[in-house]
Amino acid sequence: MKESKVVRDEVCVKRVQQSTTRDPEMEEISTPRIESKKKTAAEGWSAARPGVVLVACLMTLPVLVFLPGHYWTSSFVWINAVKMTKRIDKGPEDGSIPNSLASKDKLLGGLLSPNFDEQSCLSRYKSALYHKASPHLPSSYLVHKLRTYEALHKKCGPNTPLYKKSIEQLKSGHSMELMDCNYIIWTPYNGLGNRILSLVSAFLYALLTDRVLLIHVTEDSTDLWCEPFPDTTWVLPSDFPIKDLTKLHGGTKESYGNLLRDNKISNNPKTVVVSLPSYIYLHLEHNYQHLDRLFFCDEDQMVLGKVNWLILQSDLYFVPSFFSIPAFEDELRWLFPARESIFHLLVRYLIHPTNTIWGMVTRYYDSYLAKSNERIGIQIRIFQWAPIGSDDLINQILACSKQENLLPDIELENRNPSSTNVARSKAVLVTSLYQEYFDKFQSMYYENSAKTGDLVSVYQPSHEGHQSSEKQFHNQKALAEIYLLSFCDVLVTSAVSTFGYVSHGLAGLKPWFLPYAKNRKASEIPCIRFSSMEPCLHTPPRIGCRGNRTVDTIKLQRHVRTCEDLGEGIKLFD
Ligand code: GDP
Repeated sequence: MKESKVVRDEVCVKRVQQSTTRDPEMEEISTPRIESKKKTAAEGWSAARPGVVLVACLMTLPVLVFLPGHYWTSSFVWINAVKMTKRIDKGPEDGSIPNSLASKDKLLGGLLSPNFDEQSCLSRYKSALYHKASPHLPSSYLVHKLRTYEALHKKCGPNTPLYKKSIEQLKSGHSMELMDCNYIIWTPYNGLGNRILSLVSAFLYALLTDRVLLIHVTEDSTDLWCEPFPDTTWVLPSDFPIKDLTKLHGGTKESYGNLLRDNKISNNPKTVVVSLPSYIYLHLEHNYQHLDRLFFCDEDQMVLGKVNWLILQSDLYFVPSFFSIPAFEDELRWLFPARESIFHLLVRYLIHPTNTIWGMVTRYYDSYLAKSNERIGIQIRIFQWAPIGSDDLINQILACSKQENLLPDIELENRNPSSTNVARSKAVLVTSLYQEYFDKFQSMYYENSAKTGDLVSVYQPSHEGHQSSEKQFHNQKALAEIYLLSFCDVLVTSAVSTFGYVSHGLAGLKPWFLPYAKNRKASEIPCIRFSSMEPCLHTPPRIGCRGNRTVDTIKLQRHVRTCEDLGEGIKLFD
């Protein structure tokens, strides 16, 4: 988001559902890589709780009888999956990363395809060494869907005969039925966090509608992300016939809302459709208007489903609103038995920093963070619509730290801590556009000792001064820092920041967030823990669809709740 923009315009059953995450094939991929030391710990875990396991199985049986077929296989491997997670969750004792990928599941339970050249994108398979094990393994249905998608992308991707055929169709000015390939083109808008949220949303839309996702790479976003799909590209070729993709806006006449307004298309199922345009622009930015928001209605999805090319510009994580579209409901449930895993799994699948950025990330991590026993990430984002003095914000962070026991208190009388204490080392990673927060924390632990005797070191990789999302190196540093935050054990992030959402989603953590200031005053509640890992949809559509069915009603309420950090927003939860 831009700094100046006011954005504010069932326990066992649940476990069974969350457990649809493994199949025997995935077990095979992962199990041999587990170190024998960790195996022993896991065996100890299960051995200590045979009664619990038996009761869990007996309680699960009646539920399974009513579940669709694919739940069956996965549910019975749940216990194994839990064992697995226990085994791989622990890293080496000193907090450093294990030196061999063999001890980690580099394919993330089948999420990632093995068909890539490892050297071309080191982060893809090496991130597993740095990230904590995922709290949610992908469902076998998601794994199957991703492999199917990859095959479709290879068949329809740029420079294939089917792509060329689709370009001819695009030039004809009309959509055609029975095209083999249909596309959604994502265009960048706003800051990097916003971009990643909308890109992940676009990818899920592509999965749900069998479209191929292509991205318009602008100068500021070159050498940022690796290719996510094997043996093909997702980069829109430069000779794509529609130019000026970055100049799309709410007034663009090809936007879905404007086509409806001008009666160029109809979303009335009774209207006989003579012809549909060859492409439609989807304007799903935070300032979208009523007619554009109809994108989230079933009838409108039926119309859009007949259009071969869609071009999207968005700065939102619009996934929560998919749950109001009946046509997507079953598929979403099968793909993601745990709703709060959606962003986490898809961002780990899709976003892999290029080797340039991976070099920055690993050099920094290995030099400063790796050796500490604990890494605490503090992401500080100041929005112009919620100004706050730096001292007030630092006091808020310190109050949060005290409340949640995150950073050690300092010894005000500056006595040396008792020598009998075994010193633990804590690395504090501050990310911010500004340097003053780092300075304050660093001098605090330089000038004073920690009461606990812990050794606290403070680091900040960059302080860019202001947001410059139009600059490539600026965006590369931003992605590097999002990744570094995602390697932390504990995160404190700023409310409403998409930069923060992406880092905690990648990490698979529920961070504490710092509520934003009102009337220049820090929030009285210093921080609150997010209840779900999912990002917040800042401006949900809240519209009535045809037949007066309102998008934001009871059905949706089963899946979403109000965001803890923004009253107008909604987010998915389990
Ligand atoms: P949001 O505005 O907090 O929702 O996050 P965005 O990522 O969409 O936009 C903010 C942009 O400002 C980032 O993409 C970066 O370009 C820049 N930025 C903000 N905070 C930081 C930071 O801590 N480190 C770096 N390197 N850049 C930042």
